[in-house]
Amino acid sequence: MSLLINGMGVSPGISIGPAHMVHRNTLDVVQQELPPERVEKEVRRFSTALQSAKEYLNQVKRSMDDAPPDVAILIDSHILMLEDAMLGQEPIDAIRAQRCNAEWAIQQRQNLLMETFMGIEDDYLRSRGNDVEHVVGLILRFLDDKDYAEKKAEQNLQGCIIVADDLTPADTIVFQNQKIGGFVTELGGPTSHTAILAHSLRIPAVVAAHNVRKLIKDGERVILDGNNGAVVADLDVQLVREYRKKQKREHERRQQLALLRNKKAVTQDGVEIRLLANIDLTEDLRTLKRSGAIGVGLYRTEFFYLNREKIIDENEQVQIYRKVLRVMDGMPVTIRTLDLGGEKEFDPTYERPLAPNPALGLRAIRRSLHEPEAFLCQLRAILRASAYGSVRVLLPMLTSMQELEQTLELLDVAKRQLRAQKKQYAEHVPVGGMIEVPAAALQANQFAGRLDFLSLGTNDLIQYTLAIDRIDDEVNYLYDPLHPGVLKLIQMVIQAGENNGKPVAMCGEMAGDTRYIPLLLGLGLREFSAHPSTLPEVKEVILNSHAERLKKKCRRILNAEAKKIPAMVAALKPSRKQP
Ligand code: PEP
Ligand code: MG
Repeated sequence: MSLLINGMGVSPGISIGPAHMVHRNTLDVVQQELPPERVEKEVRRFSTALQSAKEYLNQVKRSMDDAPPDVAILIDSHILMLEDAMLGQEPIDAIRAQRCNAEWAIQQRQNLLMETFMGIEDDYLRSRGNDVEHVVGLILRFLDDKDYAEKKAEQNLQGCIIVADDLTPADTIVFQNQKIGGFVTELGGPTSHTAILAHSLRIPAVVAAHNVRKLIKDGERVILDGNNGAVVADLDVQLVREYRKKQKREHERRQQLALLRNKKAVTQDGVEIRLLANIDLTEDLRTLKRSGAIGVGLYRTEFFYLNREKIIDENEQVQIYRKVLRVMDGMPVTIRTLDLGGEKEFDPTYERPLAPNPALGLRAIRRSLHEPEAFLCQLRAILRASAYGSVRVLLPMLTSMQELEQTLELLDVAKRQLRAQKKQYAEHVPVGGMIEVPAAALQANQFAGRLDFLSLGTNDLIQYTLAIDRIDDEVNYLYDPLHPGVLKLIQMVIQAGENNGKPVAMCGEMAGDTRYIPLLLGLGLREFSAHPSTLPEVKEVILNSHAERLKKKCRRILNAEAKKIPAMVAALKPSRKQP
């Protein structure tokens, strides 16, 4: 009888291979009192370990040249932690003052830092304490074994399923270079960096599989199912056969979809559709390149703030945007200005009391307009990046025309400042607005008149139209993209774009959900932006759809009774003829 261990699937895919146990991230540390003559030697031992840890991370960074910038930022943030006095100088002071061993000194610093993180209410920020553990764990490993890096590089782990209590992002990258089959950890959650990285790097992964290290033996053959968040041990032949079949089906499906990569997204009746990709920290620019996307339709810049304590300065922002532009090689990149606030509060130093209702509070464009200096800094950075590629600016959560006018004025100020500094920027940088508040949808004609393009943010548009908090599990069942009110607003916005001769895109999750593609085509949507991994399937639906026929059917759906709509929409699904 096989043994099923459940966890949380954070990166899809199935792998079958031998389990490879990885030791605990933190080693047991005891305090030792040193004789006075050994103190300086201990300081040198600590400095060497710190230096080796830095070199190791730099080496990891070099090994992932074409990784998305966000992944590099993650490793950089760990390097910065190693350079911080809390982990660099203070342990040295402690070794000298207390005459203690280096391990003890660094662990005391870690405990202090962890106390600060544990006091934070926000789950996401609290989980960032995890990064401190990872960085300290790395120093401890080098204290334990100065040849740690070489030994790690020499291991042959191809096809292995790594089983660990927790993994650091750097470990994950090293393992990926060694072509592991996947990994399972006892700790971690979907927002841990390791989970995010695994998804970006396409390594099947399961986290929060409690006790997995006790239940699996080193070297034993196991199945890792990242789709369902499970690990299976004590395998029998029948089960392995079933999983091999599933693996084969997945592989064939991926290959079939890969054939579509260079095909234009054109409907059966010849209507050309633009398919772009959304990128944020969980997105991978490499996946994007494989997806056949013709540009970036939404770049969520607020994800920079992961691990950051202050606004990123203008030059650094320019560098990050330039990297994305370089990867996109001439294709348009739609950079959305910060959408901080609401559930996306990453900045631990942001000292504003928690709003009673953050989704309705000082969020997105409201917050940017409230902090004009930081906003100008981002606008200048985006403009400067426009000298290196095709850039579009996207403004989140516009509600009133006044906000738009204020923003356009600030954009002019930013241009004047750059001209005064003799900095280059493109002559015309298109400016678009997210339509994600019902008031903006109802005024879409005015917005379309003043902007170069519109982009429907259905995640928020549905939340605000139906008064349903998109992150509240208890009301999740009411979150309905097919609510007649939502459909009418979407249709109004598309119509407003047509009236004004301005393109309308959609970049909410709805645009990547194949169930809704025929409906959206029928409503006249011609630009979709979605997670790159979903684009091939979206393209497949488009290739098999007939836009003109859908248009007629969708007119009926807009006037149908609410309860009939889901079935009518399901009936629009085309049968698969292509590829
Ligand atoms: C949206 O609201 O649909 C959207 C794309 O923005 P975000 O999910 O980042 O709020
Ligand atoms: Mg939104």
